[in-house]
Amino acid sequence: MLDEGQLLSHRTGQIDASGIRRAFQLGAQLENPINLSIGQPHFPVPDPLKTAAIEAIQSDSNGYTLTGGHPPLRSSIESMLQEDIGWDFTSDDVDFMVTSGTSGALVLAAWAMLDPGDEFIIPDPFFVIYPALGPMTGATPVYCDLYPDFRMTADRVEPLLTPKTKIVMVNSPANPTGIVLTDEEMRDLAELCRSRGVLLLSDEIYDLFTYSAARDARDRAPSPALHGQDMLIVRGFGKNYGCTGWRLGFAAGPTWLIQQMIKFQQYSFVCAPSMAQHAVMAAHQVDMSPWVEAYEHKRDLVLKHLAPVTNVAAPEGAFYAFPEVPASLGMTGTQFTESLLDHNVIAIPGGVFSNRDSHMRISYATEDEALEAGLKAIAQAMKG
Ligand code: PMP
Repeated sequence: MLDEGQLLSHRTGQIDASGIRRAFQLGAQLENPINLSIGQPHFPVPDPLKTAAIEAIQSDSNGYTLTGGHPPLRSSIESMLQEDIGWDFTSDDVDFMVTSGTSGALVLAAWAMLDPGDEFIIPDPFFVIYPALGPMTGATPVYCDLYPDFRMTADRVEPLLTPKTKIVMVNSPANPTGIVLTDEEMRDLAELCRSRGVLLLSDEIYDLFTYSAARDARDRAPSPALHGQDMLIVRGFGKNYGCTGWRLGFAAGPTWLIQQMIKFQQYSFVCAPSMAQHAVMAAHQVDMSPWVEAYEHKRDLVLKHLAPVTNVAAPEGAFYAFPEVPASLGMTGTQFTESLLDHNVIAIPGGVFSNRDSHMRISYATEDEALEAGLKAIAQAMKG
């Protein structure tokens, strides 16, 4: 008999994945739920991408690719990045790589940079993988408390920097709050990290889904990449094009770091899925703006229903809102989301994404009709 207590690593005990699993298990008991818990777009993958994936498989492009990415996809990412953030990848200073999802890039960066005893600063509330990079590497996540407006400003980060800090992680548009930092806020973070010799890691997976008022002078998501190159920019295809299961992202940053991440990819993921790499080569030519506009409208619906009954920081991108459970109810986020199951609505308690359990995450990536029905039920429940 194998003794799991003796065989499993200590780090397994330091990662708690129970929150989201519990939300899914509870939801699975409902017949026809209004599901506002899903962290992916509800639209289908654009046809040109589907066709390209099928063609890649049928033309036998199913083998390993180069570790850093299939060269034609690399060319497409290179020109897109050059046009977007102006980085010149013909220089020796910066490089990029294709990764197995954005998560793949985050894990590779953590492996390449973090030792036991190191610290890395993450937002609170956070995307669930961020704190887990601690147990995976032995480093300590340091939480930057962003309540109540959820803006990760340099002023909030600065007091948390210590000689042990190696990375500051910023996520904009943010999961679970939808907050988008301004160009100025990004510049200040970039300058702070540079002046303290710390790597700024910018997770920009939702970049395309940045709503009109939050877009910068380029009409795009503000990025620290416009204020230097001594940082790691992580982006993905999954959320922007509805292909989360294809596991495709990329990371751009200092060559010394990308080279080490490629080494770890070689001995772990090996390469990103080959047919997906073929499929997304033309992604940047696909016009997603109708979906971005549709989601901006859904964001407006969320505010219309919830702003009158609770505190909710207006989301500026992604497809999430993070309203507070009104204090007058005397309920935690977990208690409130469990009570919503009686109204056939699934949402995720804020405690899954935070050291506090005072809020809840709503994903509005769903049909308007279901969304409005869900929002009405939540607003009713919030009124008590
Ligand atoms: N970063 C953030 C902020 C996310 O919300 C997610 C997915 N929920 C990821 C990274 C991981 O994305 P991927 O599926 O590309 O690994």
